[in-house]
Amino acid sequence: MTRILHRSIGPELPRAVSGDGVWITDAAGRRYLDGSGGAAVTSLGHGNAEVQAAMRAQIDAISYAHSAFFTTDAAESLADRLVGLAPEGLDHVYLVSGGSEAVEAALKMARQYFVEIGQPQRRHVIARRQSYHGNTIGALAVGGNEWRRRQFQPILPETHHVSPCYAYRDQRAGESAAEYADRLAAELEAKIRELGEDQVIAFVAEPVVGATLGAVPAVAEYFRRIRAVCDRYGVLLILDEVMCGMGRTGTIFAHTQEGVVPDLVTVAKGLGGGYQPVGAVLLSDRIYRAFAEGSGLFQHGHTYIGHPVAAAAADKVVEIMSRPGLMAHVSEMGDLLQTRLEAELGQHPHVGDIRGRGLFRGIELVADRGSKAPLDPAEKTHARIKRAAMARGLICYPMGGTIDGVRGDHVLLAPPYVIDAGEIDELVGRLVGAIRDVL
Ligand code: PMP
Repeated sequence: MTRILHRSIGPELPRAVSGDGVWITDAAGRRYLDGSGGAAVTSLGHGNAEVQAAMRAQIDAISYAHSAFFTTDAAESLADRLVGLAPEGLDHVYLVSGGSEAVEAALKMARQYFVEIGQPQRRHVIARRQSYHGNTIGALAVGGNEWRRRQFQPILPETHHVSPCYAYRDQRAGESAAEYADRLAAELEAKIRELGEDQVIAFVAEPVVGATLGAVPAVAEYFRRIRAVCDRYGVLLILDEVMCGMGRTGTIFAHTQEGVVPDLVTVAKGLGGGYQPVGAVLLSDRIYRAFAEGSGLFQHGHTYIGHPVAAAAADKVVEIMSRPGLMAHVSEMGDLLQTRLEAELGQHPHVGDIRGRGLFRGIELVADRGSKAPLDPAEKTHARIKRAAMARGLICYPMGGTIDGVRGDHVLLAPPYVIDAGEIDELVGRLVGAIRDVL
């Protein structure tokens, strides 16, 4: 029995001892295809020699210098690289150590921004139901997943939720994508007006919803309509790309496919590729200037901000990610994954929807395809699929139907970008086997 308090207290876990590309090997010599990159983390796969060399060089030079006293070449290079790849308008970077920290920092930045510009009365944040933005108390409060929040209520009362953009379940028969987007934008506008036209700081959303719904992209126009509503009321748009960002959907930033520029973007997971815990917030020049011309201080900070080894790892990960051809490969392998999943599972009586972008795909499981009725949560289908997949040497990321008691189980796939066509076949074969073992 290990003495570590694991997330779920249960059977002993296999011990991972080595990794290579899309493969993980455990202490018993079993090999697992990392079909979900853990939780969309290992963007470049395991054992990347260039990233390891960059980390080693940084360790040899200097491993730690507190960000209150020093900056480093690694941190500066990473910031330059991120801004260089981001759309115009996102011109500054704040480095952190992970996804929840990035969301916390973005929320505090948004709140302090309004203090700096003389609107301290603004204090409400609106996010979406069935969302996940992290596990620290602020990020958890913004996340709209009742099941995760309920043990901790009352939890930051200034957080509010509206509907996610979830066409498979919520777009009405006969309703066009544009009408659906309008309906959701109207819901956000009504919520802002209910809270007070000058009371809301920010709206928070994932461009492609990951953990909670299973790789659900928004319908065309949704984010443009949302951006317009935010602009009408001076509300900042925070896009959480912790899971869907850094190349996962076939572009470095997922939101560039939505035709909007947010005020703040959070990234983590694939940014460090699993080599180091690292995250970042990208912010607009308007926000930066408010701090620079105001108090001159962002009232925030963590000990490991801009950690040199984390920055060196992320800098190399992003440099590799932005080489010609890799994003095209992600799109091509993603399309192949979608096609293969549809061919193998499209007619399965319990597969309701197969969706996603790039190498970020989700399969929603239902009791009945016609009515889209979710599986009985008591059956814990997602947990059984996770176990069956591991027994077949596949890591995938199934989530349960416990979210507000209404959503179906789903399986999230997010393999490393280095996956090839043969490994896609292997992934799909093992997954189909696991789903058939259970359903
Ligand atoms: N935001 C999103 C969209 C996420 O998917 C996650 C992690 N699943 C987080 C934030 C939190 O990231 P971390 O686990 O690194 O704190």
